[in-house]
Amino acid sequence: MPSEPNPRPLPEPVEPPPLRLDAALQLLQQAGCILPARDDPAWPQAVIDGLCDLSSRDALTGLVNRRQFAIALDREIDRVARAGEPALVLMADIDHFKRVNDTYGHAAGDEVLKAVARRLLECVRPMDTVARHGGEEFAIILPNCAPAFGLAVAERIRRRVEQQPVAIEGGAAVAVTISLGGAFAPQWVRSTAALWLERADQQLFRAKQEGRNRACIEEPPQSQVSAEEKNLLFSLTQFDEEPE
Ligand code: GH3
Ligand code: MG
Ligand code: MG
Repeated sequence: MPSEPNPRPLPEPVEPPPLRLDAALQLLQQAGCILPARDDPAWPQAVIDGLCDLSSRDALTGLVNRRQFAIALDREIDRVARAGEPALVLMADIDHFKRVNDTYGHAAGDEVLKAVARRLLECVRPMDTVARHGGEEFAIILPNCAPAFGLAVAERIRRRVEQQPVAIEGGAAVAVTISLGGAFAPQWVRSTAALWLERADQQLFRAKQEGRNRACIEEPPQSQVSAEEKNLLFSLTQFDEEPE
């Protein structure tokens, strides 16, 4: 009789990594998030929602952070390709912000960043996304914004920041201006976040070169897409689908 094969040794039990719940709860507490009692059935959902919110916002200004902005931008690119709606992206950068820090200190610089963030939010519609893109640079997505209104919107934002100096601790009022650059997503075409932002960035660079405290918007493309061409976008995506 053939001998029985040696039974395979059982794998060593692997310790799951420790749940970092305490660290997560500490972060939520520090961010001022109020949770229901731990035995409340709504508690797990509130913890997840709180952590999601925390990871998508900039801690200083409360604006959408760069990570969440990238998600919103990709979503907008999809929408422009699918529905052909015009959309504008604006990059805004505070002028000579280093001087603010050097003159009044870093804490005052932080106050200025928060005030500019609030003013940007005041100037846009609820459907728009205002993000802190990094340092003293902000990015705004304006879905369904007709090319004819692009410059007017950017100018409104520029003026709103310029018109009211920021009051900082100690009583000083800091005059602040921003430069803006904007570009439209090409309608009925699938662009990429990098290409779209690059065009807006080029306009921001132009605004800085031309003296700051101004808005430059790229001329939207003039070409007209026929109904037949629009349909091509959909028929091509159908080829990508798996056969049933
Ligand atoms: P420009 O008009 O060309 O944009 O000049 P600028 O001085 O605004 O630009 P620069 O890039 O030289 O300086 C940006 C400064 O922003 C330097 C950096 O220390 C400061 N900064 C970046 N993030 C923060 C922040 O969170 N808080 C404060 N207070 N300062 C910040
Ligand atoms: Mg700057
Ligand atoms: Mg900058």
